[in-house]
Amino acid sequence: MKLLSSQVDGYIESSSWIRKMFEAGIELKKKYGEENVCDFSLGNPDVPAPAVVGEALREIAETADQPFSFGYMPNFGYPDVREKLAVKVSEEQGVKVEGADLVITCGAAGAINALYRTVLEPGEEIICPAPYFVEYGFYAQNYGGVLKTVPSKPLTFEMNFKGIDEAINENTRVILINSPNNPTGAVYSEEDIKKLAGIIRKHNEGRERPIFLVADEPYRFLAFDDVEVPSILPHYEYSVVVSSFSKNLSLAGERIGYALINPDMPRKAELIAGLVLANRILGFVNAPAVGQKLLARALGSGVDKNIYLERRNAMAEVLDNAGYNYTMPKGAFYFFPEAPGGDDVKFCAALQEERILAVPGSGFGAPGYFRLTFCVGTDVIKRSEEGFKKARARFK
Ligand code: PLP
Repeated sequence: MKLLSSQVDGYIESSSWIRKMFEAGIELKKKYGEENVCDFSLGNPDVPAPAVVGEALREIAETADQPFSFGYMPNFGYPDVREKLAVKVSEEQGVKVEGADLVITCGAAGAINALYRTVLEPGEEIICPAPYFVEYGFYAQNYGGVLKTVPSKPLTFEMNFKGIDEAINENTRVILINSPNNPTGAVYSEEDIKKLAGIIRKHNEGRERPIFLVADEPYRFLAFDDVEVPSILPHYEYSVVVSSFSKNLSLAGERIGYALINPDMPRKAELIAGLVLANRILGFVNAPAVGQKLLARALGSGVDKNIYLERRNAMAEVLDNAGYNYTMPKGAFYFFPEAPGGDDVKFCAALQEERILAVPGSGFGAPGYFRLTFCVGTDVIKRSEEGFKKARARFK
């Protein structure tokens, strides 16, 4: 008897080595104690939410005795939260956004899923640079879409424009970019965005169904060394920004984010109506009531970015001292160094023997690298140096 769909059964089977690594990590922590394992595998922000979140929660609790305090609402979210969010994203994007251009969603993940549900026909393609956030493949397949990845330049992870240009065909529906990037920490420049927009515009000519440019931006707030994160909106009219408060407010479990439709998109009202409907019929119904109320009060605040900066610098020092090859991340909280010896799965197994948990690049469509997340204290980062040295020495 089969309990699962063949697709989900296949997903579980094909991700079994990731699961094995995850389980091995749990075993390591059991055996040596959590404090003796350096876990760089999880992208779950450990920096506490800003104080305003706690204060807001207490305020929200005071309203619990009123009818509909946490009741259903319009599928796009609370109208007043949408208006407040519009002011904030107008500042961030440098483009005037109205509340009606936004749909509040269950995280950036919920926004991407609602968008795909709205625009994809089965068999249509989404192109994204690799390495990429592994869930992108599943989100595409949820709606019969196909994720087509284009390898970025080795080690620097700059966009491969020629590759993207060649990958676009009549089935292309979405170009998806993520900057600052998970897993590489790359940030695309304004020149990059303009160049990409030019390529898409060229392919868009004469098409009945436009190609959408989608920017997934949950790490927009976290760019280092004064690097700018340019908006895609001024450069291409069929564009959508998806983002969330999972990282900048450390609210990842509260599932709160948004889709922002380019205010200049022709016939944008149709797309927004589709997204609102998709939000409902996918079973999200609306983004969480408490999360939205929190957001309304916490907009403009954020976690202390200096904590991440300090960690990035500490991690760079560890990797330098241990002789690793990597590009310094310009944003987000990841490093994506080359795996000594070239076999990322083998190398991550060697790291585990040194009680260091990392994720092989194969999990992000980029074998030969591994991902380290700095969602841990600098003490853990510094403590890992010897282990990194020993693991590398095995592959000389
Ligand atoms: N996109 C990227 C690149 C991510 O790294 C993540 C989460 O780690 C998401 C989307 C999903 O985030 P959210 O919690 O906003 O759904």
